[in-house]
Amino acid sequence: MTAETSDLLRNAIESIENGVADFTSGQPRRVTSALRNLYAGVLLLFKEKLRRLSPAGSNDILIWVQFEPKLVDGQVRVVGAGKKTVDYREIKDRFTSLELKFDWKRLERLQRMRNSVEHHVPNEPHAVMREALANTFALVAGVLEHHLEVAPAKALDATVWSTMLAEAATQKEIAEQCRASRRDLKNVPSGAEQFVEGMLECPACSSELLRATAADYEQTALSCLACGRVSSLEVVLPKTLERVFAKDFYEAAKEGGEAPIGTCPNCYKLAYSLEEDRCLLCDEDRPYSKCLRCGCGLSLEESDEPMCGYCRHVMSKDD
Ligand SMILES: [Zn+2]
Ligand SMILES: [Zn+2]
Ligand SMILES: [Zn+2]
Repeated sequence: MTAETSDLLRNAIESIENGVADFTSGQPRRVTSALRNLYAGVLLLFKEKLRRLSPAGSNDILIWVQFEPKLVDGQVRVVGAGKKTVDYREIKDRFTSLELKFDWKRLERLQRMRNSVEHHVPNEPHAVMREALANTFALVAGVLEHHLEVAPAKALDATVWSTMLAEAATQKEIAEQCRASRRDLKNVPSGAEQFVEGMLECPACSSELLRATAADYEQTALSCLACGRVSSLEVVLPKTLERVFAKDFYEAAKEGGEAPIGTCPNCYKLAYSLEEDRCLLCDEDRPYSKCLRCGCGLSLEESDEPMCGYCRHVMSKDD
């Protein structure tokens, strides 16, 4: 590290190195500490970027939640204030308004993993730590190289960096084996493949290491290699769709209209794809998708009746 390394950057590196030390200690009880350290370290790297972007004489304005006006040499200046520094949400907002691009999904996954171990002790802490390490590896490389212009291999202790590299590679291999078991499933409803193969997460620990327990979609459950929990597809898939389409669900609730995924009229799970016009879980379509009288499209709730609400109303008057 160079002489001009800031406190923030130093703390970030230290936190990540501590996380890796938690991992290499081999003590299962250090899983919570490992994930806390790794997540905190990554957030500090983002703060370092915001610090560097803060205008001179602003008391590093971008890393503080609050701002206040101050008189400096007869001029009004806005400077950072208070005691609270930015957290994940504010960091993301600032990056977005400064037009700095980043793959937030990976960071959100690390955050979910950290939250999970706070509530639930995994059966395979080593696997959880490895997955977190692999995620951190990608995040650290991304922020250091693209935003801070520091080579990760130089910033981090050599042993720490090579541990992260090795574990990330192992993780990738195991994740690929799990993905292959899901890719090979027979009778996956059309439109469900991309979610089943690439986006499922364990509902207990947020791990992506889910292995299909049977060869057929209808019979399979998912066994988590990290926490040991076996979950049914009926639980995992709707949760995944809820996460993937979170923004659409939010907008549909706020502005009215239908989200791209709705409750299936057949199996009653949140897995009915309007785009495919069939359920991604039970593979059934709906009894009626168009009104038999006027031909208008029926909403998912209306689709067990042959007519839209308006036509039913008109018809009932004719009786
Ligand atoms: Zn799990
Ligand atoms: Zn269904
Ligand atoms: Zn109608």
